Amino acid sequence: MQFVIFTLIAGLLLGSITGEMAGMLFISLLVVATWNFYYQRKLLRWLQKGRNNPPPEANGMWGEIFHLLNRRQQSHHRRKTRLAQMVGRFQEMTSALPDAAVLLGESDTIVWFNQAAKQLLGLHQSSDMGQRISNFIRHPHFLQKFNSEAGESGFTIPAPVDENLSLQVWHIPLAHNQSLLIARDVSQQQQLEQMRRDFVANVSHEMRTPLTVIRGFIENMSDAADPNLKEWMPSVDMMAQQSDRMGNLIEDLLLLSKLEQRQEQREQMRIVVATLIKEIVNGGQTLANAKNIRIELNLDENTFLMGNERELYSAFNNLFTNAIRYTPVDGIIHIDWSKEDNGGAALSVIDSGIGIPAQHINRITERFYRVDTGRSRDMGGTGLGLAIVKHVLNRHNAQLKVDSTLNVGSKFSCHFDSEQVFDKNSR
Ligand code: ADP
Repeated sequence: MQFVIFTLIAGLLLGSITGEMAGMLFISLLVVATWNFYYQRKLLRWLQKGRNNPPPEANGMWGEIFHLLNRRQQSHHRRKTRLAQMVGRFQEMTSALPDAAVLLGESDTIVWFNQAAKQLLGLHQSSDMGQRISNFIRHPHFLQKFNSEAGESGFTIPAPVDENLSLQVWHIPLAHNQSLLIARDVSQQQQLEQMRRDFVANVSHEMRTPLTVIRGFIENMSDAADPNLKEWMPSVDMMAQQSDRMGNLIEDLLLLSKLEQRQEQREQMRIVVATLIKEIVNGGQTLANAKNIRIELNLDENTFLMGNERELYSAFNNLFTNAIRYTPVDGIIHIDWSKEDNGGAALSVIDSGIGIPAQHINRITERFYRVDTGRSRDMGGTGLGLAIVKHVLNRHNAQLKVDSTLNVGSKFSCHFDSEQVFDKNSR
């Protein structure tokens, strides 16, 4: 800048001394233009040579320009290197992951995937980018769940590369119309789970026959009028009681095993819930009478369910017997079956019983989880009733809700989706 000003002033001075103002100004402008051209060429050469060469030497304005450009270039390079390192680390990390990860763009097209996605989903780096994920995972369960259950607990499908492998799949929505598909091989877990189920089912089944024999003998002893057996009678009664308990336990375990076999086809039929409940109440009337428990019914006779009658009978019966079991003498049990605002319907069993402390409510549907083990056993409970209820409801797309206040009572309600519910005039 100083050079430009100095040259122009010199031109003006020489112009006024010599009287050739225009000529001198022209010469000084020519000098400035040449000077600029010289450094522009230097800049161009330097930029063409690349960032590894030091910037050209210059003073004044051009020196400042070279210095700033050089600084920017260096920091841009450092940022690029850092980014490349980060991408490298990210790629290393994702390829070490045992889970398949696929980044999906608009219309669920494949944008990126990791190493495990090649092995579990059969994707190929070069050819499959940009294609829709549904071209590769064609299982109907995947297509049905893929969009509807984004981000939720996931769903299981057979692996596209091998039908014998099971994949747990999660679909997680991201910003900018992107989403992430994660798939985990859960075959081993499923095998172990199956082994556990088979073991419980086999043990329960094997115990059934010897127990039937033992119960037969105990019954014979109870019925025998032999005076020699009289003093043994209290023990025989206790044996009868305990073998009944064991029988109930085995039956509940077998029922749970059956419910867990997902392959089993549910026999869906039209169920008149009001009639089913009346049948259940009749069956438990003697028990309720023994405790002077009043039973109130409010049953919508025109609302029906689509489902498996035997399974629903077990579930509702468990809720009803629990209500009797955990309600003290002179209590009230109210059973309500009615439609809900969302088009579904709910069956509620409300008792004036002992209630459940809040911290236990989340766990009472676990197998053998009891608030008070002694009390449950004394009352003939197996600890499996609510686990059965939960399984049955799961298989009917229904939810169990529990509200309870200690020493006031409990409300167990089964909420059925509108798809399972219909009334007299529909279907
Ligand atoms: P159990 O055979 O012991 O009744 P369940 O699975 O049916 O097993 O119930 C689990 C536990 O939940 C019970 O042991 C009891 O502590 C509690 N429970 C279930 N129903 C009721 C109820 N209506 N009132 C109070 N507690 C209940």
